Amino acid sequence: MSMTGSAGITEKRGIRELGAEEKVGWDAVPQGVVLTSFDGLLDKGAAFIKPEERNYSDFNSYTATVASWRVIKPVYNRDICIDCQNCWVWCPDTSIISRDKQMLGIDYDHCKGCGVCVEVCPTNPKSLLMFTEAMDNDDALASWPEKKKKAKK
Ligand code: SF4
Ligand code: SF4
Repeated sequence: MSMTGSAGITEKRGIRELGAEEKVGWDAVPQGVVLTSFDGLLDKGAAFIKPEERNYSDFNSYTATVASWRVIKPVYNRDICIDCQNCWVWCPDTSIISRDKQMLGIDYDHCKGCGVCVEVCPTNPKSLLMFTEAMDNDDALASWPEKKKKAKK
C-alpha cells in the first residue's frame, strides 16, 4: 500500500495461477476455477491482519490500482484533523488509512477520487480537500483555506 502512488502492482496479475502464458479474458477462464484471495492460508482471520501485511493472491483486487481513474484527489491535513473517523467510515473504497482510531492518510493506489471523504469531514476548514491530481501535496497544504467565521445574525 502506498500513500503517494502505485506500489506492488503488476500487469500480469492472475496469469501465474491460471498457468497461462499471457493475460486471458474473463471468458477464457475455465469454468469452475477457484480464484483465491490469498496465497496459502491465513494464520488468523484477515480482519486481524493489517491490509498491507495480508498475503494477497494476484486475483485479489487489492493488487490492482485505480489511481489512473482519478482526475482529482483528496489531500489530507493532519494539523486540522480531529480523528473523528467519518472519512474512514464513509469511503466506498476503504482508502482511508487509520490505525488505532488515528487517521494516517490516503491509500492513493485504491482511492478513485470520488470526494465523499471531503463531504463528510466536519472540521472548519476541512481536513481533507480535493485538488487536481497533478498538484503536489505540499503545495496543496500550503494553499489550505483559513477557518471560516460564522456569519453574524
Ligand atoms: S476520494 Fe473517495 S475513494 Fe478516495 S479516499 Fe475519499 S472517499 Fe475514499
Ligand atoms: S473526517 Fe476529517 S476530521 Fe474526521 S478523521 Fe477524517 S480527515 Fe479527520
